[in-house]
Amino acid sequence: MSHGSSLSRRELLQRIALGVSLTPLVSGGLSPVLASPSPLLSVDAPEAKAVKYVEDVRKAPGATPGSSCASCGLYQGKNGSAQGPCQLFPGKDVKAAGWCSSWAPQM
Ligand code: SF4
Repeated sequence: MSHGSSLSRRELLQRIALGVSLTPLVSGGLSPVLASPSPLLSVDAPEAKAVKYVEDVRKAPGATPGSSCASCGLYQGKNGSAQGPCQLFPGKDVKAAGWCSSWAPQM
């Protein structure tokens, strides 16, 4: 065995060890960053005002009992989440307790 091939084997083993040690960081350590929520939709945004969006359904005179973003067919937040995406507002989150005039029942 030559000295040069021994170094190459050592380098290879070091790279494998480095890759194994970084795998948890890449697979698990960054996922909270990637899963961070989108910015909340402002009630003052023109698109929010257009559909009378409120962050608290209790402040929506037109809301029917039991309707809120959490029970809306366009809401894409996880069950029990405080906020989540809405198909009506790409790139923005809405409050689960919110409501707007485009509320639709879940199918
Ligand atoms: Fe909430 Fe549904 Fe209106 Fe989106 S469409 S803001 S989820 S009530």
